[in-house]
Amino acid sequence: MAMEILNGYDRKGIEKAVSLLRKGEVVAFPTETVYGLGADATNSYAVAKIFEIKKRPKFDPLIVHIGDMDDLFNLTEEIPNEAYSLAKRFWPGPLTMILKKKEKVPGIVTAGLPTVAVRMPSHPVALELIKTFGGPIAAPSANPFGYMSPTKALHVARFLHSKIELILDGGDTPYGIESTIVSFEDGKTYIHRHGAISMEELSEVINPVLERGSSGGKCVAPGELPYHYAPHRPLRIIDGVEEIGEHDSSYLAFTSPDFNPKSKYTKVLSPSGDMREAAANFFSYLIELDREDVKIIYAQRIPKHGLGKAMMERLEKASKKYTHITY
Ligand code: AMP
Ligand code: MG
Repeated sequence: MAMEILNGYDRKGIEKAVSLLRKGEVVAFPTETVYGLGADATNSYAVAKIFEIKKRPKFDPLIVHIGDMDDLFNLTEEIPNEAYSLAKRFWPGPLTMILKKKEKVPGIVTAGLPTVAVRMPSHPVALELIKTFGGPIAAPSANPFGYMSPTKALHVARFLHSKIELILDGGDTPYGIESTIVSFEDGKTYIHRHGAISMEELSEVINPVLERGSSGGKCVAPGELPYHYAPHRPLRIIDGVEEIGEHDSSYLAFTSPDFNPKSKYTKVLSPSGDMREAAANFFSYLIELDREDVKIIYAQRIPKHGLGKAMMERLEKASKKYTHITY
């Protein structure tokens, strides 16, 4: 794939990036923290490409970058007053807030969580891109798994030159470190990740801001907060439809089964076995199959190549939770 680096301060660059985003492609762009690898946040297939390009062996929830408060209202609900106060002071800027997501935010963006991380960046190129595109852009840092976050267009080019079509160059990113992430619960504000906005700065607006895992009145043990979606029902990985023994069950098939499964509900991730399509459907199907009227979810083993690795990582984790159940 031929890659271009265009000046992000030029209209031509922005327009090219927007046309790629509209086609469901991925583009790299500067923010005030680090360079991001962005896709249309409402297009799960486009977002699956981000994970494919990053070669991350697991799915992490992505930060959704917005251009104005209308985007925020479109993506989230139940915005607490603390979030408004923080937005007023720090947006646009390197502060990310975790809020309850609206149904329409695709599962692959939030890794299945009911919350979404949102940030309004202050970098003029990022803002111009989001506003011209006219909608939210989901983006993690533009580095492959295991590498440092990129602070120059050239870093991105070195990392991803054969994998993406366009990098918008906005010079060196001013902060060079990730955004600060906060969340809200029962009127309290928690810090999830320290970053470009300091605890002291946050405390000028909200006091106190609690460390994640600290007991702010209610005891929250570290690791107890839900950073990762896991199904409520027990899950078992099987090789094929013939291993389904329980009728009160769901079946998450990778490809179309050879014959009708015995399970009550079945979803096929990708009839043709296309990893990108499967990944785009993965979380929404898993959530849909995690129903109260089933005793177990059977999941067909997915080949561990490309995005299959990240999907299997999730399935294996979920299957280890209830090893004592044997349907
Ligand atoms: P980044 O690596 O800068 O793109 O930041 C992404 C990080 O934000 C993830 O690795 C998570 O730690 C965090 N994050 C994003 N969305 C959520 C969420 N809904 N709940 C908790 N943490 C989140
Ligand atoms: Mg990152």
